[in-house]
Parts: sequence; C-alpha cells; structure tokens
Amino acid sequence: MTREYVWLITGANRGIGLEMVKQLLQSPSNIIIAASRNPAKATELQGLAEKAGGKLHLVALDVTDKESISQAAQEVAGVLGGKGIDYLINNAGILPGGEDTAFSLDVDILASTFATNVGGPVYVAQAFIGLVEQSEKKTVVNISSVLGSIGSDVGVIWASYAITKAALNMLTYKEAKEKPDITVISMCPGWLQTDMGGPNASHPVSVGVEGVLKTILSLTPEDSGKCFNFDGQPVPW
Ligand code: NDP
Repeated sequence: MTREYVWLITGANRGIGLEMVKQLLQSPSNIIIAASRNPAKATELQGLAEKAGGKLHLVALDVTDKESISQAAQEVAGVLGGKGIDYLINNAGILPGGEDTAFSLDVDILASTFATNVGGPVYVAQAFIGLVEQSEKKTVVNISSVLGSIGSDVGVIWASYAITKAALNMLTYKEAKEKPDITVISMCPGWLQTDMGGPNASHPVSVGVEGVLKTILSLTPEDSGKCFNFDGQPVPW
C-alpha cells in the first residue's frame, strides 16, 4: 500500500495555496486539508474535492481568529482519525500596505498585517503542533518572502509587509530551536502571478509552487530553522 502523507494548507482557496492543492492532488499519496476563511464560497476547491475521492477535505479557518483556529484543529483531528499532519503549510498572508516605506507606513496597517502574517502562523502552529508531532514528516513551512530578508538588500518599499516577513523568519528560527523533533523552515515562493503578486510577476504561480513543493519534499531535519527559495537555494536572513 502507498504511504500517505497529510498536508494542511492555510489560505488554500486562491493563489499559491490553491495551486499547491492542485499540484498535490496529482499524487495519490497525498491527503490534503485545504483551509480557507469561507469554504462555502471556495468554488474551485469544492469542484476539486468532488473529484478527489476523499483525498481533499475543506475546513473553515481564519488565521486571525483563535476560536476559528481551535475549531478547525478539532475538526481536522476528527477527519484524520488518529493520523497526523506531515506538512503544515502556513500560507495565508496579506499585503495591505502596498509600497509603503519606513517613513510613511501606518502602524495600524503594520499591526493588521502582523496579525495575519505572523500571528496567524503562531496560533496555527500552536493549535496543530500535536497533530504535526504525530506524523512521520513532522514539518512546518512558513511561507515567507525574500522581501523579509535583510541579507538580500531589498530596498525601501513594501516596508510593513517586509517587517512582518522578517518577523516570520525569526518565528521559524524560534520554533525550530524550541522543538528539535520537528522540521520548521521559511520558504520564499518567488514573485508569482497571483492576486498579491499581480499580473507582471516574474513567474506563473505553477512554476513557483512546483519549486516550493520540490524543495519541501527534499528537506532533511538538518534544514530546520533555515529559509529557502523556491529553487531550493538558501536565502540569507
Ligand atoms: P493571494 O492574495 O493570492 O492569496 C492570499 C490567500 O491568503 C487567500 O487564500 C486569502 O483568503 C488568504 N488569507 C488572507 N487572510 C486570511 C485570514 N485571515 N485567514 C485565512 N486566510 C487568509 O496571495 P498569494 O497566494 O500570492 O500569497 C500566499 C502567500 O505567499 C502569502 O503568505 C504571501 O505573503 C506569500 N508570498 C507571495 C508572493 C507572490 O509573489 N505572490 C511572493 C512572496 C511571498 P481570502 O480569499 O479569504 O482573502
């Protein structure tokens, strides 16, 4: 019998999250929990679930709402019936500050971006870590951005978003240090053509996601606490 791996992806109803679901469904060894704020409106996910023969489960999860996260964790535990989550993908994210800068940004926007881009992954990991630890792969992936890398010298704009992704990278490091039994990484998916990346982004979403999944599947425990680009190369902090 083929070994099955369980994936949970937040923000799975569009963009990078949805493309991950589509690519993962191509392998019969994957069971996918697609989390989104409103599964009743996630028509593409519903269509995929109808054809997936029980391999795709839709759950409601708003990463800024602790109650919603805890309800989702209970529901997922029930669906999995004793199985763990091999790959927990903290993908949901927002960029409301646009091209703001350090000397023009609005701290209220920074705070709301932080609540989703950092607070979300914090609470999702806290709620689901038990299920991750029950799995074979025990892997948490925080979808970050090169924009959060000081070492990549990314310049002035996108400031509030970049600050949250730099904080997310520190979260990755802290989670990895605290729990050596799991593998936690930050992953930069590339500049991709999604609602967030816009139509002029460097790559179609399919290309970035292919690289992201290939990189995740080749991780070893020694990679924990690090940041990788979608081409598998390490990204400096
Ligand atoms: P999109 O804007 O296309 O999609 C964002 C996803 O996040 C949607 O599914 C959205 O759900 C979900 N989301 C937002 N807020 C919440 C919330 N509170 N609870 C649950 N889900 C939420 O973005 P991308 O797909 O492009 O980005 C995905 C991730 O990749 C983000 O973390 C982003 O920062 C990162 N990234 C993207 C890059 C790019 O070029 N596209 C580059 C580098 C990083 P809803 O439909 O309900 O709003």
